[in-house]
Amino acid sequence: MRSGEDLRRDLRRIDGRGYPAYRAIAGQYDFGRYLLYIDHVQADPFAPPSRVRVEVLEDVARFPEDTFFSRSRRVGLCDFLTRRVAEAILRVARGRRGSGRSGQIAIDRPGQEILERTSVGVTWEGVEARLVMGLPAQGRRVMGRQAEAMFFEELPEVVACALCFDRLDRAGLYAHVEVNEDQDALRERLDDLGLVAFVPEGAVLPRRSGVDDRPMRAEEAVPFVSPPSLRVAVELPNRGEVVGMGIPGGITLIVGGGYHGKSTLLRALEVGVYNHIPGDGRELAVTVADAVKIRAEDGRRIEGVDIRPFITNLPHGRDTSAFCTEDASGSTSQAANIIEALEADAALLLIDEDTSATNFMIRDHRMQELVVKEKEPITPFIDKVRLLYRDLGVSTVLVVGGSGDYFDAADRVIMMDAYCPGDVSREAGAIAQRHRARRRAEGGERFGRVTVRAPVPGSIDPSRGRREVSIGVRDAHTIAFGEQTIDLSAVEQIVDRGQTEAIGNAILYARDRYMDGRRPLREVLERVWADLDEEGLDVLSSRLLGCFALPRRFELAAAINRFRTLRVRQVR
Ligand code: ADP
Ligand code: MG
Repeated sequence: MRSGEDLRRDLRRIDGRGYPAYRAIAGQYDFGRYLLYIDHVQADPFAPPSRVRVEVLEDVARFPEDTFFSRSRRVGLCDFLTRRVAEAILRVARGRRGSGRSGQIAIDRPGQEILERTSVGVTWEGVEARLVMGLPAQGRRVMGRQAEAMFFEELPEVVACALCFDRLDRAGLYAHVEVNEDQDALRERLDDLGLVAFVPEGAVLPRRSGVDDRPMRAEEAVPFVSPPSLRVAVELPNRGEVVGMGIPGGITLIVGGGYHGKSTLLRALEVGVYNHIPGDGRELAVTVADAVKIRAEDGRRIEGVDIRPFITNLPHGRDTSAFCTEDASGSTSQAANIIEALEADAALLLIDEDTSATNFMIRDHRMQELVVKEKEPITPFIDKVRLLYRDLGVSTVLVVGGSGDYFDAADRVIMMDAYCPGDVSREAGAIAQRHRARRRAEGGERFGRVTVRAPVPGSIDPSRGRREVSIGVRDAHTIAFGEQTIDLSAVEQIVDRGQTEAIGNAILYARDRYMDGRRPLREVLERVWADLDEEGLDVLSSRLLGCFALPRRFELAAAINRFRTLRVRQVR
């Protein structure tokens, strides 16, 4: 292995030369306190920046065993370190100098969620961080001295203050690791407690704005208070006893006037499948891992989905046992979204009237009179929600401000009143008794079967032009895969661009390893996650990338299901 001084000599030697001279610096260097790997050197100053890794060995990094010995703690520690590296870069790196990305140093930028990531890894041997660097140039000439400053002044300072235990804020580090462990423990316990979600007293659920995911400022936010009847106490490994609202399995309605905080509560449940950082306000607001947000998504493609539990007898005899469309309606898209979630083994559906198709959710008495059942292909969700729980054990939490007909189907009704939840189950039950719904149930005796599908690998082509594989992520909700664009804007439980990066690569991984045209999608997903559990996110790429964050199987399934050329075979 070459020494740091070798790199310094090279940088001085190539100073002022054409940009390709940088290629000479790819390789491994021993900096004494850490090892530097320059894995990829960019072709020019405007290309995606160069990829480097630093590996700080255990005797320098010195992280105590109790910060990483379990998976939960390790994920918390790595997430914490990623954030500290990002901060250190802002503090010590001088940033842009020269053309294009010259001078840039960056690491993955996490949001409010704590996720398993490839940006930082910790093992018994030490800690590794993956960064990108824009090797500096004036025009297209190497700025060797500037590069020298980046490698010999800025990077060492980032390593020293963000990747060595001695220099880190110990209390902050343990708070991060422990709050992550508590959230994992709480999520694991929900099932035993008969709950699908938990929201602690004092939680701050609203966000600063629609484009700012940080918590609403304390002066404005009304902290969460549980209705007494739903209050439960849970013992956590680090925090000890925590009290809050437990939502049991079954069918739960969230009602209340407009602007009283219904969607905000539901959103907290949607992202409660992930852990949150200390200070987020939603830490310890936890939902079962298999909760899936369901919404209408008109315009999406649907491929071979058996939507008969909800839709039959379309005009012109169109088949709904293997329904295909390039341009779904609100109701058919919502039906397909539910069936696809069930196909991937969802345990809880989360539905908000704000993003639902009205005719999918409800059909009232008068409309039943006017449009007879034989003329209406849709069986509304209200007639299936109980059967879904009874036959498949799948719970639902539903925001409905507009239809009291749902009272008949509900196990409990939570009313939001000026951001305060109250348990109004009894009142809702009494009203349902007093004003009997005049509508007729149309759901039949059973929910109906969930037909599983096997994706055909040949229908997923990652090539583009002369490139055999071209996969890119445009933003957290858009993947460019081969010639196709996958639109994930309605897949609301993707919370981090790193997940999208992982999903793009996981589609190809799943296709190459496990899709054979016979194996059900559910099983393909299981196998991919078995590999991810065993070997980590690096299995998804032949290169060592720092940009992946762990997605859930539902979001990978969602991306595959929205792929515009996908073909499937139903497995009966
Ligand atoms: P709904 O779905 O009932 O119409 P929302 O959940 O969309 O209401 O909330 C309406 C507004 O109130 C949003 O701007 C939201 O940020 C704010 N809000 C929600 N919960 C709280 C709270 N606990 N404290 C303060 N503001 C809140
Ligand atoms: Mg709303």
